[in-house]
Amino acid sequence: MPPASYNFRMGAITSQPSRSVGQLTEEEIIRRVTANLGQACPPFPAGPGGDCAIFEETVARKFRVSTVDSVILGRHFDSSTAGALAGAKLVNRNLSDLAAAGAIPSDALLSLLVGPDVDSEWLEDFARGVGKAAHQFGLHCVGGDICRVQAGTFAATLAVQGFAHRILTRKTAHNGDVIFVTGKLGGSILGHHLSFEPRLAEGEWLNAQSTVTACTDLSDGMAKDLHGLINPTQDAVIDLTSLPISDAAHQLSKADGKPAIEHALQDGEDYELLFTVAAEQADLLEANFKKKFPLTPLKSIGVISHGTGLIKSRADGAVITGQGFGHFA
Ligand SMILES: [Mg+2]
Repeated sequence: MPPASYNFRMGAITSQPSRSVGQLTEEEIIRRVTANLGQACPPFPAGPGGDCAIFEETVARKFRVSTVDSVILGRHFDSSTAGALAGAKLVNRNLSDLAAAGAIPSDALLSLLVGPDVDSEWLEDFARGVGKAAHQFGLHCVGGDICRVQAGTFAATLAVQGFAHRILTRKTAHNGDVIFVTGKLGGSILGHHLSFEPRLAEGEWLNAQSTVTACTDLSDGMAKDLHGLINPTQDAVIDLTSLPISDAAHQLSKADGKPAIEHALQDGEDYELLFTVAAEQADLLEANFKKKFPLTPLKSIGVISHGTGLIKSRADGAVITGQGFGHFA
């Protein structure tokens, strides 16, 4: 256990004016954030210092992909969360979207909204978390912006771009395709939401397999994100007994009495990959994936069929929604 003062010292918000970013000039805040981004931050003019970051065009891959996502104090982490964990989460949830597109990370812009009572050391720790996670996956933080906002507030937004060999996206599955999911699902709130690593290597490999027809990442929960994968003339028919359920989902189930499978279907922030494969190639794809990524669980959980945009249980045809579903009650 950390000492009792740990959270006070490392929390996002401080009651000690001398520790707060309110005491710092904007230039000093930028200097500290940039310094703590470390190796993820390239030197000027490819990095911070100009009106724009300027760097050479990347031409090795045909498609440029971009995405943007935020973390907000009180919503994506709480005031006791270490800065480095919140910073890493910001990077990794963006990179999970890049993984779903099968892209390799390239450059990012960081925007910070900082209240005057944000702890200055916590902010430096946050920047270190951003820098470390970015550097780990080859993402360069090339610039950004810092804005002062009202007390008690901290939010950070990262706009990320990467490059891919081909378009891999949602709603492009064919009827009959087999649905796969990586990892184990549910209970992310117990820790996974701050400690996950984006499935970038898996996504890049899937992008190179022409038999993979659609892909997304799980951020809002399987029951919701599956809707994003199919188009309105398709159903996703799921074998509920095959769903990979995390230990954390079982743990939560014991605490709240809700079946673990409901946690696996409804909990957000799994950051796993959900994708479809042409039926006749599904076994081969699964075998090759497991050879390539022996440590990444992979499960076939159902098929795409002609339908009306629903998620159904294979066993009894019951419709599965994000709000829970009667036959588990
Ligand atoms: Mg996503």
